[in-house]
Amino acid sequence: MAVTTTDAVLLRAHAYGETSRVLRFLTRDRGIVGVMARGVRSTKRGHGLATFASGRLTLYHKATRDLQTYKEFAVVSPRRGLGTDPLRLAAASVLADLVLRHGGDAEAGDLYDALAGALDRLEGTPPAAIAGVLLREGWGLVAELGYRPELQRCPLCGRELAPDEMGRFDFSQGGVRCADCATGGEGPRIGPGARLQVGALLAGAIPDDLERPRAHLQLLSDFITYHVAGSRPLDTFRILAALLPPEAT
Ligand SMILES: [Zn+2]
Repeated sequence: MAVTTTDAVLLRAHAYGETSRVLRFLTRDRGIVGVMARGVRSTKRGHGLATFASGRLTLYHKATRDLQTYKEFAVVSPRRGLGTDPLRLAAASVLADLVLRHGGDAEAGDLYDALAGALDRLEGTPPAAIAGVLLREGWGLVAELGYRPELQRCPLCGRELAPDEMGRFDFSQGGVRCADCATGGEGPRIGPGARLQVGALLAGAIPDDLERPRAHLQLLSDFITYHVAGSRPLDTFRILAALLPPEAT
């Protein structure tokens, strides 16, 4: 058993017995790590163990077991602002859920930096802008995980889509089918405007005309369900959708 210390962000915590917690972190050196933190509910050892906080995690590591043993978490960035608004909290939970569901125990430096940056940006976002920021950060993490969709070229025939062409998302191909190949596809239709918007979000920009984010959130949720979550949508998307203000029709 080795003592090891790594950068970590706490993604989820649940009570275990009277005094302990099971914690799930994304770590820089070991990807997703679960730890059993004994006694932290009753002593000051548990101070700072707030969801979405990041810092330096020290644990006793043994390769053959699922849950490692907690030693210490020295918080660097508590991110308390994420919990001050229900919608912001729900958006942060979607990002955490996406990373947790993807899993993996390999070194995860780029993913770690992407998630930490996304949570920092979300923390500073006013409620009215949260849906747009979540879409940008969500597509950014999807791309970081290796599932960036192809929006310009039809994955079936290889033809470049015209600027005004109606296409159809094909999740299994990771792209948008052209109008000629759209028949028989099962994914949602996507018009030229929405296709441009997804492209902008993937490039790190939030389009000015993103007035009705629900359809975009549904698309992101469906894409994540297909590629990452494995047939069942992330519960956190449903919670987020229930908190969004209604859209004019
Ligand atoms: Zn085609």
